[in-house]
Amino acid sequence: MPTKILLNGSNGRMGQAIAAAAPDLGLILSGAIDVGENAAAHIDACDVIIDFSSHRATHALLELAVARRKPVVIGTTGHSAGEKTHLLTLAAKVPCVWAGNFSVGVNLLFALTRRAASVLGADYDAEVIEMHHRFKKDAPSGTAARLLEIILEERKLTAAALRHGREGITGERTSTEVGIHALRGGDVVGDHTVMFAALGERIELTHKASDRAIFARGALRAAQWVTAQPAGVYDMQDVLGLK
Ligand code: NAD
Repeated sequence: MPTKILLNGSNGRMGQAIAAAAPDLGLILSGAIDVGENAAAHIDACDVIIDFSSHRATHALLELAVARRKPVVIGTTGHSAGEKTHLLTLAAKVPCVWAGNFSVGVNLLFALTRRAASVLGADYDAEVIEMHHRFKKDAPSGTAARLLEIILEERKLTAAALRHGREGITGERTSTEVGIHALRGGDVVGDHTVMFAALGERIELTHKASDRAIFARGALRAAQWVTAQPAGVYDMQDVLGLK
């Protein structure tokens, strides 16, 4: 039996990519909804919910998933740190895969970034640069935010270390700051570079997405996987067995 999906944000770029990729991976849409439409009307027919919509939609969708005990895949980004903490508590009541990026390549980039930050140490200045299409509504991207989290964890720093762009007389760079720079333009699907720069050498880890089908396929793989899991919040590293 194919896994049945309730897709939230179905008119969007990701919604359309998921609808297009689902049949090849053995999943079908039992419901497809967008802004203003009622998720509750479709919830009973689905095995799993996939959400690629707006950060404003996540809370109500998770409340519905918890009430009806349905697994969820959340791909939507743009939640504030406070919002996310609250939402994760709710999400943990059902099987939930939450990932800022569903691509296999980016998930390998996460693992490589952790290794590089650990081996290179604080003498290597860490900066993250991301670029996305002109229509993207939030910055920095969820993927960049995850890369930053990994660097902060390895360097034992807090979010106070982050420098969102630089302007004016900033003074010399300190070893306890991590820079983040968001570029926007054209139709770029998603580029991320993590740079570790020391005196005399520089390492750059770059991933470039050229087709959003990679996120769609990853989210569908997560949807199939999560239906067999106990309640809890998982990420793509769990789905891919990278932990
Ligand atoms: P988009 O703007 O093309 O599509 C978003 C869709 O959601 C639109 O059709 C919009 O009408 C709909 N929507 C808005 N508010 C809604 C609501 N309250 N309820 C239901 N639908 C609602 O955006 P996109 O490029 O498809 O991206 C959607 C989200 O997914 C963004 O947050 C984006 O950053 C994120 N994203 C995540 C990944 C990942 O791998 N995790 C990859 C790409 C995009």
